[in-house]
Amino acid sequence: MNCKQATRLLSEQMERPLSAKEIIALRVHTAMCVGCRRFGIQMKDLRDISKGYVNGENNNPEK
Ligand SMILES: [Zn+2]
Repeated sequence: MNCKQATRLLSEQMERPLSAKEIIALRVHTAMCVGCRRFGIQMKDLRDISKGYVNGENNNPEK
């Protein structure tokens, strides 16, 4: 796996479950590659932020 494939999977895992083979390949790559490890952390943070935003919207008492 190269960095392009790794970042693509890191993005896709937000939208679909990865196969076991993809997860293993991604883990092997991120274990060796700091850039993709950081990218994965950023993707997770972005997802957490957007989740919090959606929850805040749902809890808005004005709606
Ligand atoms: Zn990489």
